[in-house]
Order: sequence, then structure tokens, then C-alpha cells
Amino acid sequence: MKKTVSLLLAALLILSVFAGCSENKAPVDTTDEPAKDAAVSEEVDPNAAAELSDGYDPETDTDLDAARGGNTEAPLAGTVINGQNYTFTNSKLVDYTNLSPNKTIHRNHKIDTITIHCTKGKLTVETWGSIFAESKSQASANYGVGDDGRIGLYVQEWDRSWQSSNAANDHRAITVMVAADSSAPYAVSDTAYQATIKLVADICKRNGIEKLIWSDDKEVRIQHLNGANMTVHSDFVADKDCPGEYLYSRMDDIAAQVNTILEETKEKTVTGSPCSEEKTFAFENYLVKIKKDTGVRKNPGVKYSVFKSVKKNEVYTIVEEKTVDNIKWGRLKNYQGWIDLKDAEKVKQ
Ligand SMILES: [Zn+2]
Repeated sequence: MKKTVSLLLAALLILSVFAGCSENKAPVDTTDEPAKDAAVSEEVDPNAAAELSDGYDPETDTDLDAARGGNTEAPLAGTVINGQNYTFTNSKLVDYTNLSPNKTIHRNHKIDTITIHCTKGKLTVETWGSIFAESKSQASANYGVGDDGRIGLYVQEWDRSWQSSNAANDHRAITVMVAADSSAPYAVSDTAYQATIKLVADICKRNGIEKLIWSDDKEVRIQHLNGANMTVHSDFVADKDCPGEYLYSRMDDIAAQVNTILEETKEKTVTGSPCSEEKTFAFENYLVKIKKDTGVRKNPGVKYSVFKSVKKNEVYTIVEEKTVDNIKWGRLKNYQGWIDLKDAEKVKQ
């Protein structure tokens, strides 16, 4: 019963979004889980229809006649694209899946770009699922981030979504819709913003994108110069107000926050494999909180120079202790260096 109500609501929403289309049908729910709480009170701005029905440019997009349909298979592991061995996966952060028929099977380029879009109107992941399930919408995205931070998957990463009105971009990009206000500057909620950063970091990690690089210069973005690997919808469609001022002006911040996550992951990987020359002995690692800003030295001892500093109130793991000239030193897990332990206190666990 609940599912029927949800589908009816979804159908009504589609009718309102695509006013003017004559043959709207209720979408087919292709997922295991029924659409949850399908946006009873959701306001869908008519502009959202324009945004969502503009997945590709009929003038230039040669993928228009590409196969649609139910092929959900990933290319075989170890697929070679542009001479590179490639294995595709989807994000485990996904809360809801409704695979769209609007896609090109499979993408013809490795994933090396992130394109973040906004939807004018605070849609839920379920509403996008219903809209993208309609062939008529001729639009899709790989992922959508709802106002509540939940994440929807519509086109698996190995397929090309129809989102940026540009085949070449969508073949190499993961496209991410983010629910935004229905009027300028098309702000998004903090929850959606943070979820977007987590999702993008996850996409980068799994696809070997080591650093996210934004440029304010459209030509640099389109040509992927200087390592730039973020594009926006308006790069490909004149006068397109996507991703909107709010997200556009924060692309630098998104890149910085994603890169912080990527760096942290790298550090963990490095510290996870101790140097083979090190003596191993039973030592129980413990946490310390820094009492005052202090220097990190390559080796225990004041004669060694400081190569980094740690700040008051930061917390680190100590993985080894050594006393040199009556000073007790602790080796930090993260920085592979040593601090004077009088500048830190043990954290009770
Ligand atoms: Zn867009």
C-alpha cells in the first residue's frame, strides 16, 4: 500500500515537473527497496524540469541513439580504457538505488573528472530516481545528494550519465546532482554539502584521482590544463545557471576539503606499513593530547631539527618511546617523527 501511494505521489510529481509532456507514466521501481517517504510536501520548482531535462545537447551529442536499458553489468575487471587497466566500482555511501535507462553503456574514458550540478528545488533521492527512471526525461546523473545528505545512485560508475549536455565530459566525469534552493544563489544545506564532499572523496579514492583541482578559468577547466579535473554544467551550455552561484563559489573549498580527506587516507596507508629495518617489540600504542604547540623531529633528541609542528589540543597516537639525555620522546604515528612527551598528556581511553 505504501509503495502504491509513493508511486502515485512520484507520478504526480513527474506530471508537475514535466508539464507539457503528454505520455507520462508512473516510473517503474527497479530497486530492491521501495521508494521511501516520497516527498509529500516537496516543492518542485519548474526550473528543475529545465535543469533535469537538459542532460545532453542534441546538436552535438552523438550518444543520443546509444543503447538504453537494463544492462547493469560492469565491464570486466581489468578493462583497458585508453591503454589503462581499469576496474569500476560504485560508492558504498549510497542510501538509495534506482538505475536510470538514460545512459550510455559503457563509458569510453577513465574517470578523471568530477562535475557537480545543482537541482533547483530540494529534491529527495527518491524523486530524482523517479524522474531519471523516465526515458522521456532524457537525463540522469551518476549520483544525487538530497537535502538531507542521503545519496542516490542512478547511473553506475562504469556507464556514462546524461547530465552535462556534453558527451566527452560525461564519459570521463562522475556527475553529482546536489539538491539546492529554488532561487538564487541556489544554496545547499550544510548536510548536503558535507555529504557531497564525502562522496566526491570516495569517488576520487576508488578511481585513483589523487588530488581534486579546481580552476576559476573555464578554458583551463574544459581543456583540463594544469591538472584541473573539475568542470561545471555551464562550461558546456551557454547561460546555464548550474551549479549556481552558491556551489560555484565553493568549488575551491570542496576541492580543499576533499584533498584533506585524500591526504589523511594516504598517511594512514603509509603509517600502516612500518619500515622493515625497525626493531619490533611489544609496545602498546597510546593516544596523547598536545598541551602546547611543539616541534616534531626526525629522531629523538634536541640536536635533530624540527620538520613539522603539532598544535595544542590535537590528538596523536604514540607508537614508540625513547629517553635521550633525560628527555622522554614519543614517536608519532602520523608524522613518523618524535615529540618531547612533556608537551603532551596521555588521553584516558
Ligand atoms: Zn547541471
